[in-house]
Amino acid sequence: MNAKTNIRALSLEQLSSRLTALGEPAFRARQLHEWMWQKGVHDFGQMTNLPVALRQKLSEHFDMQTGRIAREQHSRDGTIKNAVALHDGNVVESVLIPTETRITACVSSQVGCSLDCSFCATARLARVRNLTADEIYDQVTTIRQQAKTHFDRPLTHIVFMGMGEPLLNYPQVMSAIDRITAADGLAMAPWRITLSTAGIPKMIRKLADEQKRIRLAVSLHSAIPEKRTQLMSVNAACPLPELQSALQYWYRQTGSKVTFEYVVWAGVNDTQEDIKALLKFTARIPSKVNLIEYNAIDGGPYQQAGVEAVEAYRNRLLDAGVAVSVRRSRGNDIDAACGQLAGDYQDRQAEPSISNDIMYIPNDRTH
Ligand code: SAH
Repeated sequence: MNAKTNIRALSLEQLSSRLTALGEPAFRARQLHEWMWQKGVHDFGQMTNLPVALRQKLSEHFDMQTGRIAREQHSRDGTIKNAVALHDGNVVESVLIPTETRITACVSSQVGCSLDCSFCATARLARVRNLTADEIYDQVTTIRQQAKTHFDRPLTHIVFMGMGEPLLNYPQVMSAIDRITAADGLAMAPWRITLSTAGIPKMIRKLADEQKRIRLAVSLHSAIPEKRTQLMSVNAACPLPELQSALQYWYRQTGSKVTFEYVVWAGVNDTQEDIKALLKFTARIPSKVNLIEYNAIDGGPYQQAGVEAVEAYRNRLLDAGVAVSVRRSRGNDIDAACGQLAGDYQDRQAEPSISNDIMYIPNDRTH
C-alpha cells in the first residue's frame, strides 16, 4: 500500500527529474535538497520557501523514513549512547564520545552484523539489514546536534565502529560519506572519518581505488592465523596474507597509514609469540597499533589481559618503531563502548510517547 518513494534515497539529479515529471520547475530540487541535507528538516510542512500545494504534493508521493531517538543515555564520562528506532521498528545504536580535543560520533552501518567475532556483543545479533545512506547520515546529524546542545562544541570526528561491518554495506556507507563530506552536505573533511573493518581484502582494494581520503582501521586482534580465525571467523574466508597485501595496496594508493585495533586478552594472545607475529605482520604495512581495552560482554569467556601484558606489547612495538597508542575505554558504564552495542533496548515497536526520553545513568551504577 505504501508506494511512496524514500525521497532521501534520490540523488539531486534523480530528484530533479522526479519533480519535472510532476510538473515542477527543476530549481525546486535544489531547495528541497538543501532542506533535507543541510538544514536536516524531515517534514515537508516545514519547508517554508516551497508553495503549500507543492508541500502537499510531495507528501503524497514521497516520505522520509526518518527514525527517532528512542533512548538517550548519558555516561558519567560524558559519553552519550543513542538507541535509534528506525522507521521499520529496528533499532541501532550510535555513540557520542567526548574528549578534551575531540567530539567523535561512532555510527552503525547495519542492523545487527553478518560477521560473528567471538568477543563482540553485536555479533550475537543476526544481521537484519543494511542501513540506508540517510539512516547513517541521520546518526551523524543527531550527534552533531547533541555536541552543540550538551558541549557547545562542534562534531570533529566520525568513526564507523558501531554495529555492523561497513565494508559489507559498501554502497550505502560510501554514499553517506559523500553526503557528510559534500560542500552542500555537512562539509566535513574526509580525513576526520575513520572506517573500521574486520578486514575484507577485496573491499579494501575497492576503497583504496576510490580515493575518498578517509582513514582506515582494521580489527586485527591476532596475527596468528588459527588464533585469528577463532576470534574472528571472517579470517577463514579472508586470510591474513590476503589482508596484508590488500593493506599494502591501500597504502600505495592512498599514502595513508592503517590503524590496527588490537585487544590483549588473558590467556588468548598475551604471549611473546603473539607479539612477534604482530610485529612481523605490521612490519610490512605502514601502520600504527591501537591497543584497545576489552569491554566485557555478559557471559563471554574473554578477559582483558593485565597491565604488564599490554605494556609488553607497547614496548616491543615501540622498540620496533611502530607507533602505538593504548586506548582507555569510554562509556562502558552504559554499555556504549566498542563491542557492547547489542541493542539492549528491548521495546523494538516502541510507542512515540517515549521519544526523546533522556535517561541519565547514576554515577554509582556498577556492572
Ligand atoms: N565491523 C567493524 C566495526 C565494528 S567493531 C570492525 O570489525 O572493525 C569496532 C571495533 O570494536 C573493532 O575494532 C572491534 O574489534 C572492537 N570490539 C568489538 N567487540 C569489542 C569488545 N567487547 N571490547 C573492545 N573492543 C571490541
